Amino acid sequence: MPSVKYHKGDMVMGRWPGSNLYYEVKVLGFEVKSQLYTVIYKDGTELELKEQDMKNSHDFHPRSRSRSRSPGRRRSRSRSPARTTRRSSSRTAAAVAAAAITESESLSSRKDSKLKEMVEVRLTPMSKAKTEPEPERNQSRYNLRRRKAEADSKPQQPDDTKVFSAPAVTVSTPLDFGGKLGAYFWLLFLPSWVLFVILQVNLQDPSLVNFPPPVPTLEDLWDSRAFGFVILWILFQVLLYILPVGKLSEGMPLRSGERLKYRTNGFFAIVMSATVVVAAVHLGIDLTYIHSHFLQLAVATFLISVLLSIYLYIRSRYAPPDQQALGGSSGNVIYDFFKGHELNPRIKNFDLKFFCEMRPGLIGWCLINFAFALAEKKQQELDYPSHAMILVNVFQLLYVVDGLWNEEAILTTMDLMHDGFGFMLAFGDLVWVPFTYTLQAYYLVSHPNALSLPAVAAIVLLKLVGYYIFRKSNSEKNAFRRNPSDPKLAYLKTIPTATGKSLLVSGWWGVVRHPNYLGDLIMALAWSLPCGFSHLLPWYYMIYFIILLVHRDSRDMSDCRRKYGSAWDEYCRTVRYRIIPRVY
Ligand code: NDP
Repeated sequence: MPSVKYHKGDMVMGRWPGSNLYYEVKVLGFEVKSQLYTVIYKDGTELELKEQDMKNSHDFHPRSRSRSRSPGRRRSRSRSPARTTRRSSSRTAAAVAAAAITESESLSSRKDSKLKEMVEVRLTPMSKAKTEPEPERNQSRYNLRRRKAEADSKPQQPDDTKVFSAPAVTVSTPLDFGGKLGAYFWLLFLPSWVLFVILQVNLQDPSLVNFPPPVPTLEDLWDSRAFGFVILWILFQVLLYILPVGKLSEGMPLRSGERLKYRTNGFFAIVMSATVVVAAVHLGIDLTYIHSHFLQLAVATFLISVLLSIYLYIRSRYAPPDQQALGGSSGNVIYDFFKGHELNPRIKNFDLKFFCEMRPGLIGWCLINFAFALAEKKQQELDYPSHAMILVNVFQLLYVVDGLWNEEAILTTMDLMHDGFGFMLAFGDLVWVPFTYTLQAYYLVSHPNALSLPAVAAIVLLKLVGYYIFRKSNSEKNAFRRNPSDPKLAYLKTIPTATGKSLLVSGWWGVVRHPNYLGDLIMALAWSLPCGFSHLLPWYYMIYFIILLVHRDSRDMSDCRRKYGSAWDEYCRTVRYRIIPRVY
């Protein structure tokens, strides 16, 4: 048995993955088989290190005294999570690693060869790691030395992405949504709920006491034309997405260090879609078909989302570990099918998750709302849609147009960065959004609600306040994540974290931990108010959204706690409220 140099409890200096930075770490254990030490950094991050990446504290000498960033010398500038700085020099893990190496090696002739090193690291709770199957374990071992064969065989990437990998994690995070049993429940509940609200809102008196709604016949559920219409719509959106129009935006660095490119031409897509829809109406195409065949359209779209999810699950079985989502790699078929196993499934450059998130459902939502406005006019024999219908249409159109105009911002959201693409998102994007977010407009078609002008003005004001908070806070975080050194953000305070990323602790993100959710909720209120208070159904979105965002907030809290350790705790101590200042 080989001798073990460091023992449990020893305090030594451990190299930070992908860099020449050494930090004080505590040895938690040693695994003979892999010859790796499990260590914990002061911020709570646990890693596995090789012996050669560890040094005794008393032997520790920074390599270059004049330039080194060793904790010994640069104590005051260390990325200790316990320190809140004004404008930290935060960068992504990959960028930090690259910058650190570039700096410390700039005097040496080894710079070029160093810059070609591939670094792989496992950043995971060790108890979880023990449950991994052996092949994965070996693939994901922390290895600060170049994996030559692999590095040589990999295609060259752009300069800023190729050099160092961000921490690669191949194990699953704790299960969400009630775990495996929960996944079964949601798979049954979500489609049933969509069916229920569509049937319910159609009733003359859609009161929830009129439960259950009449059972639909097969004909009510299925119409081949409706299926064809949905397919055409999706293909039309595919066409608009792949046109070489608009900007190519870079996503956030993946665990492999790679940054994917996305064609962010969503605004172009909605303008083109609107043009085609208006032309169709002009040519006499009756869009109220969407209203009269809403259920069939929903069922057809549901079928497509299920087929897509099956495809996604099958292909995810072959996804390399660094392409697997942490949240959807439990090993349980149903849970992983539901939660999504592969992070960024792509067919060549066609990103399925990004496309589904931003195009057919989102733009379809506006199309459906517009069709409902026409249906209301027809059904209520109006010259123009009602004030309430106009408000709902304009508010929600603004929301979608804003999302597409700022499409790049979606690249720093949870869905894009952390969630795998499976049934949850496929169904959510394609079915849930267009067929339940349109409920207010659907309701107004047959349940008119007269609004006075002061009421209209008050609702518009509310919407603008919500929009302002939502847009400003999302843009602030997006700009910061894209370029933490942006001079325009220099006034913001940040907390550095051991991953190299920092957390905003002033500005909007210093008011509450999710200011963007606050803005979104205020807007949701403004969407429901035009429908009045006669029934609960048009308030469904508001109620659902509160539940969604509260749950989403707690999911994000756990993820961030895992990612950022004590730095996240400090953020939570500084910014005490989650969504609503002084309330929650
Ligand atoms: P966020 O955009 O809030 O993203 C959360 C991530 O932001 C965290 O994981 C973390 O990621 C980063 N972050 C958190 N705190 C800080 C901080 N203090 N400083 C810097 N970065 C921080 O979450 P969502 O993706 O949930 O929401 C995006 C928008 O989409 C919101 O406006 C939300 O309301 C809206 N939304 C709308 C829905 C709808 O159906 N209408 C559904 C869901 C969301 P990291 O550190 O890794 O960068």
